[in-house]
Amino acid sequence: MSSNDRVVVLGCGMGGLAVSSLLAERAPSASITIVEQKKIFEFPPSFPLLAMGRREPGKVRRVLSIPKKRKVRLINDRVSSIQTSSKTVKTESERLHYDHLVISMGVDYSPGDVPGLEKYAHQFYDFESAMKLRDALETLENGKLLIGISRLPIKCPVAPYGLALLLQDHFARAKKNVAVEFFSPEPHPAPAAGPVIGKQVERLLASKGIAFHPKVKLSKVEKDKVVFEGKTEIPNDLLIVVPPHKCPSVVVEAGLTDSSGWVPVSPQTLATRFEKVYAIGDVTAIETPHAHVPFLPKSGSFALGQAEVVANNIAMSITGKGERKIWDGTGSCFLEVNRGESAMLRGQFLSNPPRLEFHPARRKWQVEKTKLEEYWMTRRF
Ligand SMILES: Cc1cc2nc3c(=O)[nH]c(=O)nc-3n(C[C@H](O)[C@H](O)[C@H](O)COP(=O)(O)OP(=O)(O)OC[C@H]3O[C@@H](n4cnc5c(N)ncnc54)[C@H](O)[C@@H]3O)c2cc1C
Repeated sequence: MSSNDRVVVLGCGMGGLAVSSLLAERAPSASITIVEQKKIFEFPPSFPLLAMGRREPGKVRRVLSIPKKRKVRLINDRVSSIQTSSKTVKTESERLHYDHLVISMGVDYSPGDVPGLEKYAHQFYDFESAMKLRDALETLENGKLLIGISRLPIKCPVAPYGLALLLQDHFARAKKNVAVEFFSPEPHPAPAAGPVIGKQVERLLASKGIAFHPKVKLSKVEKDKVVFEGKTEIPNDLLIVVPPHKCPSVVVEAGLTDSSGWVPVSPQTLATRFEKVYAIGDVTAIETPHAHVPFLPKSGSFALGQAEVVANNIAMSITGKGERKIWDGTGSCFLEVNRGESAMLRGQFLSNPPRLEFHPARRKWQVEKTKLEEYWMTRRF
């Protein structure tokens, strides 16, 4: 009789940590292996605060571990290939056989796609870059701070807008004469939430005096200026640009991606076109049934909801108990706007039209965001 209980999870970020832990809880007889190249677990939603000196490194990252009682084997290694035909995965040091595979490998950054980006721009989408930005922000006394998005899609599309608002507030409180400007290829902020909510965020930027340049595609970065397609330019004294994102090459080489460049999955079950191979989180491309954006945004709240569904359904397949679940596209994100307040966006992104709510800035949403940080940094699953 063929086996059905070997589960391999690739990547132990938000999605991978959640799926492996929830599965271990629901199917104690499963043999679960998770492969992760890093020895630490990070909470990226706090990277803006890290860059601003409002969080210390120990608050946003911790040593990666899964409690012994969970019986998950954690391999600290790099995934080097995925072979769906033989149901095997190779790491640098071993070969793993699976009955069920969950791919939760997130994104890679590709700053080299834009000439000059790596040399002249800061970013805050990984820990080391956020720490470098922190040093640069400390020395900025006046002038123009330009923040922008180079290419779409990106993770948490409101995060760069949040950073712009937080920095404007920060420099205003410090009585430093720093003007914040923002550019993006998007027609308006948070396009997945539609133009009405997008305009609300745009008004928020305007109310803080942040000039917004939409629908621009960055073609190169030079010392002290950015150049867009069409040759328009914006000079700056400090530049922060979200780098282009791409699907990890191991996933592309395995033939799991399509013309979107990401892994197409069933929105309800997160199944790929390969039998018993699932993908969750940022690595996926999930088509939306409405016209706001072609694909769902990349977000940790989606990764967590998807992890719950996939863990449940694999556990059911192994134990024969329980009920199949489907994912409904529920998600939320916080938009930090100043030192004490966040706005909040939540809803069902897969309904048509999407059912979304935008809650203006309040202290309570800031408290909720801090709770989320504590949840991910302290919960051992
Ligand atoms: C600045 C910032 C702010 C954000 N704010 C929010 C927010 O407010 N709310 C929200 O919901 N989301 C937010 N996000 C997005 C959120 O962090 C991601 O959507 C979430 O982490 C996705 O989870 P994931 O498991 O798909 O990928 P990740 O958490 O990125 O995990 C992928 C893992 O795979 C590993 N991996 C990749 N390749 C290999 C390989 N070859 N071998 C072994 N391991 C590999 C990586 O090391 C990584 O640990 C933010 C992100 C950023 C950068």
